[in-house]
Amino acid sequence: MSDILGVETSYESRVPYDQARIHAAAIYCSDGRVGEQFDDFLQNGLHLPRYDRVALPGGPACLAGHPQTTLEGESVLGELKFLVDVHHLERIILIAHEGCAFYSSRLSLQDRRRELVQKADLVRATAVVQGVTKIDRIEAYFARLVSGSLRFEPVEV
Ligand SMILES: [Zn+2]
Repeated sequence: MSDILGVETSYESRVPYDQARIHAAAIYCSDGRVGEQFDDFLQNGLHLPRYDRVALPGGPACLAGHPQTTLEGESVLGELKFLVDVHHLERIILIAHEGCAFYSSRLSLQDRRRELVQKADLVRATAVVQGVTKIDRIEAYFARLVSGSLRFEPVEV
């Protein structure tokens, strides 16, 4: 592989490839500032290495029935159905995060009201995912910013 200038740019990852599936997927926001923390939580906190990722702006927000997100919601449900059929998913994790720009910009929500809506969305999204996938093991978390770190708090769904 080479770039525009014809320079050799091929890169080989040192991370070993393991083909075994973990049968779990996470739906979360694609915000690059929180990606590594989400990985850390899922891989080390919940012990789910190689989990399937469904990342898009706002994450589970698109499954909560907001009119602004109908198209994304349909597409994510299609992806989930695929993962259930082909990767035999048995567990799904939904994560919302504090300061999510999707909620402040697209849904025009701020501060305390934003967090309340995010948590209510996790409950709604769980019901939608459960209805479509028939998977019972669905968990939700709210990632809170605490002095420069993210703390993952379980949300009752
Ligand atoms: Zn976000």
